[in-house]
Amino acid sequence: MRRTVIAGNWKMNMTPAETKAFIEELAPMVKGMDKCDIVLCVPAIDVPAAVEAAKGTNIKIGAENVHFKESGAYTGEISAKMLVAAGVEYVVVGHSERRQYFGETDQTVNLRTLAAVNAGLTAIVCVGETLEQRELGYTETLLKYQTKMALTGISKEQLKNIVVAYEPVWAIGTGVTATADQADEGNGYVRAAIAEVYGKDVAETVTVQYGGSMNDGNAAELLSKVNVDGGLIGGASLKTDKFTAIVKAAN
Ligand code: PEP
Repeated sequence: MRRTVIAGNWKMNMTPAETKAFIEELAPMVKGMDKCDIVLCVPAIDVPAAVEAAKGTNIKIGAENVHFKESGAYTGEISAKMLVAAGVEYVVVGHSERRQYFGETDQTVNLRTLAAVNAGLTAIVCVGETLEQRELGYTETLLKYQTKMALTGISKEQLKNIVVAYEPVWAIGTGVTATADQADEGNGYVRAAIAEVYGKDVAETVTVQYGGSMNDGNAAELLSKVNVDGGLIGGASLKTDKFTAIVKAAN
């Protein structure tokens, strides 16, 4: 009923030439693995090379951020309309690194989500607690708050263009993975928040990914959980063999 989405988040890695070579190597490896959507979210500079290399394959291309205005005096920013015109289908919104290093707030995450979805992109909206917040017992409250804030103004109909990624901040890029039960629980809080706003039946249709040191060794167990509908993968998405193994686990 829910689409599984395996998405790589390359962060600030790869040149356009490396992007082309990576996708040309990956495409035959994941050919026919169609039980999930396969997405690579790449740096903006790599988008044209990625879109070109992914043509005719089952790999979709995403961006790592989007601005909330359509155009104007926002030096260095890229609009949703520009991404769509370049062939992008997905965009990561509100990644914890953007929240931590670039002043992203729940309000701007919401604005970016609205801009993305209104332009026809699928937004991969990231939520997640820090270790301190977890230890203080705020995980459920925080995940529900972040989820509801990010989706403010998104209609029931538009939810089909929303993927939420539960990414505990303490598990991103650290090699520390949430246990499968912690991932299932966090994803469950996200789904419960969606149910509180849109109803249970609708919430059951929304793809909720887990992200945080997912790799070829732990993907199968994480993905076996009822609330885990895919993964947002950083480090392991930079190696074709590791990423393929995760896609395989999802299939
Ligand atoms: C991410 O960047 O969203 C992520 C989950 O990174 P990593 O897989 O490296 O922890």
